[in-house]
Amino acid sequence: MARDPRYDILFEPVQLGPVTARNRFFQVPHCNGMGHRDPTAHAVMRGVKAEGGWAVVCTEEVEFHPSSDVNGFIEGRLWDDADIPAHERLVEQVHAHGSLAGLELVHSGMISANLYARMPTLGPSNLPVTGYEPAQARAMTREDIADLRRRHRQAVQRGLRAGYDLVYVYAAHGLTTLQHFLSRRYNLREDEYGGTLENRARLLREVLEDTLEECEGRAAVACRLVVDELLGEEGLERAEIEELFALVGELPDVWDVMVGFWPDDSRTSRFTHEGWTEEHFRGIKELTSKPVVGIGWLTSPDTMVRLIRDGVIDFVGAARPSIADPFLPVKVEEGRLEDIRECIGCNVCVTGDWTMTPIRCTQNPSMGEEWRRGWHPERFRPAGSDSKVLVVGGGPAGLEAAMALGKRGYEVVLAEAGRELGGRVLREARLPGLAAWIRVVDYRRGQLAKLPNVEVALESEVTADEVRGYGFDHVAVATGARWRADGVGRWHTRPIPLGVAEVLTPDDLMAGRRPDGDRILLFDDDHYYLGGVLAELLASEGRRVTLVTPAGRVSEWTINTMEQPQIHRRLVEAGVELLPDRVLLAVEGGEARLRDTMTNGESTLPLDALVLVTARLPNDALALELGVEAIGDAYAPGTIAMAVWAGRRYAEELDGEPHGDLMPFRREVVELAPLGEEVSV
Ligand code: ADP
Ligand code: SF4
Repeated sequence: MARDPRYDILFEPVQLGPVTARNRFFQVPHCNGMGHRDPTAHAVMRGVKAEGGWAVVCTEEVEFHPSSDVNGFIEGRLWDDADIPAHERLVEQVHAHGSLAGLELVHSGMISANLYARMPTLGPSNLPVTGYEPAQARAMTREDIADLRRRHRQAVQRGLRAGYDLVYVYAAHGLTTLQHFLSRRYNLREDEYGGTLENRARLLREVLEDTLEECEGRAAVACRLVVDELLGEEGLERAEIEELFALVGELPDVWDVMVGFWPDDSRTSRFTHEGWTEEHFRGIKELTSKPVVGIGWLTSPDTMVRLIRDGVIDFVGAARPSIADPFLPVKVEEGRLEDIRECIGCNVCVTGDWTMTPIRCTQNPSMGEEWRRGWHPERFRPAGSDSKVLVVGGGPAGLEAAMALGKRGYEVVLAEAGRELGGRVLREARLPGLAAWIRVVDYRRGQLAKLPNVEVALESEVTADEVRGYGFDHVAVATGARWRADGVGRWHTRPIPLGVAEVLTPDDLMAGRRPDGDRILLFDDDHYYLGGVLAELLASEGRRVTLVTPAGRVSEWTINTMEQPQIHRRLVEAGVELLPDRVLLAVEGGEARLRDTMTNGESTLPLDALVLVTARLPNDALALELGVEAIGDAYAPGTIAMAVWAGRRYAEELDGEPHGDLMPFRREVVELAPLGEEVSV
């Protein structure tokens, strides 16, 4: 199908200094947990984005000198010439599909204690590093500033040798020295680099000018800038930004703007909505004649068109929408909007960076596996046989398995006990803030409807005997898991005494059951989102909720999705009482007995009902009885992303050679350097 003319504007080429972007889809820099450690996996992932139609495909932040080192986070490096080949490979992958490759150079300064390089941190002022490492940044001297500028220039030269078409000067996300110099909060200097905005902007202007000089005619220069630090008067606000544009607005070839710190920039759908940045970006284009890139969890082509037509942005900036669907631009171009795999805004992708592991995505299980396992977001290997496959269970694992098997060409029956497809996603998407998660089901349901070789059988709870009678060649059991009601979890590995208390599990609450009484104790030993979401649900219904958790923070693991402070705030605002560092020992005579995990001190809390969010049991009886493979939560309960991935893995590996004891994926092993001089004693 041809593209709808109302989207034509998205496919207009845009001039960026000496280079031309073939359309307005711009994959802004984003971390991926692969970086310098997994360079080929990283390069191929970026190549797939280019293949999917993103006109500009950028790296993550790339350190240009070890004096600014954010290890163990796995980012990019261009420390010296030895790092160039990895970048050449990335650029080749992007160029192979006619896109422009962008390099985001970073000087992290006071963000990092330089733990790998062991060089003292440098920043605008004598201030502690922004994490809790016991280290301080040293105020940079004029010589230090000259070093930074020279090293940035050298990295630009290396980037050009690697073939990049666009080079960033980075002053955003609260993550860079160039922003720290700009910001009143961090720049306490009294020399020509401190004080007035003109002085604080001096280093940014100098680095922009250096970069323009190096790139002259060969590559475009982008500037990524925070346009409001969201710190009120203490930080950069609009008035100063307008002043800044008057000073440097015409220097770079393109502006890439954002708001706040990284957790603000990558807000989850639980805490924001599409296009939330619009109010901050309005009017920026009037401050410069250069094109403006802007993000804002933009997943709908109609919103993209509107923002461009309204003169808010020139380029659709995207990290997460390009991760969930690297082929989003191609699908718009081909008039296949219904095939777009929309980002659900869960930030599982972000956890790759925070856990220093290759990026993964709830919606796109091929993310990070393009080279490692040879998975593609759109293309599937043909079936290895004419086998008929039964998939039992239509949650995320079963849906993905049935879809991927169908795309490979197998004949598939997907049997689901319920009236609707979706499993846990169907239930969880009805909880406060999680509505967008239903996209996991919507996309797959839509794809299944297009596959004549996949039959979906609803209200079909199957037994082992029935399955044996059907005569399928293969059976995948994706029957999910159920929440435990006995307190077993991370803290208690055996059931706890629960007296006569009314006990509810997340399954009960999601099925609509509610406690009789008013005072609810929710014990969260799961530590991801669900405990907090259920506390919010019950509080919104007027119940008095106390959330007890052995962790130091509520929803502790959401540190990795950058939601934890927002969750804390929302629960407090909802009136939920938070009791971290506390474990539930037992319920006796209408009271819960709690123990402080730090002091071992015990206390009691009166309650009417107990909600246990602790652990799940896999529904694996059918798989065990049949002696077939269980996938997803039915094998080992985990995240929705893990279940989708498990469905994909099952489909990918059907009729393949078993890995046995061999490595199940590709990796790169560091080449050993010559041993050199031994340490003298
Ligand atoms: P996962 O996250 O692993 O995909 P879910 O719990 O989301 O697991 O989904 C499991 C799905 O399997 C549910 O929709 C459930 O109704 C369905 N199911 C469970 N047992 C059977 C069965 N015996 N026959 C058919 N469907 C089943
Ligand atoms: Fe979107 Fe979640 Fe995928 Fe990230 S992991 S791209 S937030 S769907």
